[in-house]
Amino acid sequence: MKRNRKVKILATLGPASSEEDVIQKLHEAGADLFRINMSHASHDMMRTLIQRIRAVEKRCGRPIGILADLQGPKLRVGKFAETKVTLKPGDTFTLDNRDEPGDATRVYLPHPEILEAVKPGHRLLIDDGKLALRAEKADGKSIVCTVVAGTSISDRKGVSLPDTLLAVGALTEKDRVDLDAVLATDDVDWVALSFVQRPEDLAEVRKISRGRVGIMSKIEKPQALERIDEIIELSDALMVARGDLGVEMPIETVPGIQKQLTRACRRAGKPVVVATQMLESMITAPVPTRAEVSDVSIAVFEGADAVMLSAESASGQYPVEAVSMMASIASTVEQDPLYPSIIYAQRATPDATGADAISLAARQIAETLKLAAIVTYTSSGTTGLRASRERPQVPILALSPSVKTARRLSVCWGLHCVVTHDAVDLDDMVNRACRIVVSEDFGKPGDRIIISAGVPLGTPGATNMLRIAYIGADGLSGV
Ligand code: PGA
Ligand code: MN
Repeated sequence: MKRNRKVKILATLGPASSEEDVIQKLHEAGADLFRINMSHASHDMMRTLIQRIRAVEKRCGRPIGILADLQGPKLRVGKFAETKVTLKPGDTFTLDNRDEPGDATRVYLPHPEILEAVKPGHRLLIDDGKLALRAEKADGKSIVCTVVAGTSISDRKGVSLPDTLLAVGALTEKDRVDLDAVLATDDVDWVALSFVQRPEDLAEVRKISRGRVGIMSKIEKPQALERIDEIIELSDALMVARGDLGVEMPIETVPGIQKQLTRACRRAGKPVVVATQMLESMITAPVPTRAEVSDVSIAVFEGADAVMLSAESASGQYPVEAVSMMASIASTVEQDPLYPSIIYAQRATPDATGADAISLAARQIAETLKLAAIVTYTSSGTTGLRASRERPQVPILALSPSVKTARRLSVCWGLHCVVTHDAVDLDDMVNRACRIVVSEDFGKPGDRIIISAGVPLGTPGATNMLRIAYIGADGLSGV
């Protein structure tokens, strides 16, 4: 199955899409990777979903990436005696450490570390900002607040603290248990870490996962933006998590932050996913709004690696239609005459490495000679990542002996991953590349391709070879 677009689609699975036939339809409609949201999925459900995705993968013959998204320190208030209370701006409302049902004056906040970290003047945003509080007094046991905006609060609503650097790490106790279960499957390609605040937050998950999964940092806290370069450096990928980011930051700053993060990741050669509310109205309608179509197109024009669907595919009424719509927006935008100039305005200059020099040269040669494809041999995935970073106009086939590498690279812009044995010698390498280009429908006899590799094969990062090949009548190299 060949996609006619470069940007990838990450679809979240949930109640509307947990059956195998739906997962298959989502994949056929364009989903390249699936997200399992550990905030909602039980461990049994996670294992069932993985099994179903792998069954679809086997039937369809394309490597599919699986992302397990850890909940992170999502903070919530306790319960109320009467489920919900009504407030008005100017009222005083207290969050405290008393584990008792709340009323119109107070509620339990079951997070002692927050009671200690909040200072007078800090904002507390409840239920995605629907209720805004300002801390007036904080003594470590309670936070006395004034209601700034909003009119109600109810059981277990989320609390966002845009002004407070929390003493908690990005991994909660629940996340540690979830991460163990995820790693035990040995079948998950990416783990997403929610509410990353500082580079140190990545250390623990790195240590536990020991390279078995790629680590994707979700950027949804202002504190993360202050140290974004270090966070990118220590992450394998980033998600622009616009849902919580739009609560923690003034919502009108999110588009600029999205651009900044996309550019920084493209420069670093780390995959970047743009997420949340991309086709939100398709949760309940078979067509999106014009504004949503435009939003998806912006991420595509920016050169994001992947765009994500959340509730649209997880719990909406039109999961398959949402994926199809996203796929057609993406392929249409990529055919737009203005697309190359917009995406290339942000082309990253190569680092002084063999891999980057060769990736740049491969793109230039392929575009100058109008070659059918760039074929790159990549065992660890590094060469594939650097080839994708060049954002070439011609298709890139990433050939890897490792199915895990192929699945992990499925998030990368423009990579069509194929699992194949490492070539035994140079002839085999060239012939194999030609054969796969033909069998995967990217070229035909008479076409030419360019091959990049690190010789001897299997040496990570040692890209050192570039070779133009002509596909002969037998589908093997003609020269
Ligand atoms: P979530 O993350 O859907 O897990 O909250 C994405 C976001 O916040 O945008
Ligand atoms: Mn979030």
